[in-house]
Amino acid sequence: MENQNIHYNKRRIEIPSLFFDSITGKPFQTCQVCQKQLFDTHSNYIIEKVFRKNFTNGKIESMFEYAICFDCALKLTQSYSKESKENLERFFKENVEENLAQQQQPNLSSEREIMEHLSRCSITGKSVTELDEYQIVGQFNGSYLNPQMTPFMMGNGSMDDVQELLSEKTLDEIDDFTGKYLTGPPEFREFFKVPKRRPILV
Ligand SMILES: [Zn+2]
Repeated sequence: MENQNIHYNKRRIEIPSLFFDSITGKPFQTCQVCQKQLFDTHSNYIIEKVFRKNFTNGKIESMFEYAICFDCALKLTQSYSKESKENLERFFKENVEENLAQQQQPNLSSEREIMEHLSRCSITGKSVTELDEYQIVGQFNGSYLNPQMTPFMMGNGSMDDVQELLSEKTLDEIDDFTGKYLTGPPEFREFFKVPKRRPILV
């Protein structure tokens, strides 16, 4: 993710509650993979959460979420095939970064503005109220948003587009990784069955 320099002069924004651990209701404390402390440190890390509408009660629930430090994320992305890596980079450059740079960057200086920004798909502009499933991804530094990368939201249609960019080999690598580190509670395991969702790290 490039988008450098844009936020440097602004005050730091604390982690928006949308990115909190849904079980504890507090910020994620450690990397899901290496267990390194993240909150209250100077560590760089990524949080990804996937929300899905529960059709029995109509509520939006977090289905899958984790925090992962940059080192562990890098190890995973290094296992991606060259083709998958190039496809992902191109997709995010063309569909996410350019949109973010054009539309939202100048206004994001508070949690409220971040929440508003995350209420629309960063790719299609669709409102969260029209989506049955969506994911949010953000980069953080210790207890704050990483000022170099604007968090983004992606609706299920775009999530499917991203999965199609990945080669079979890369999908196998990601499945090994999720099997080892991200399955957690039984309801998360269920989540990785068809139609599958996989972590998207770029
Ligand atoms: Zn880690």
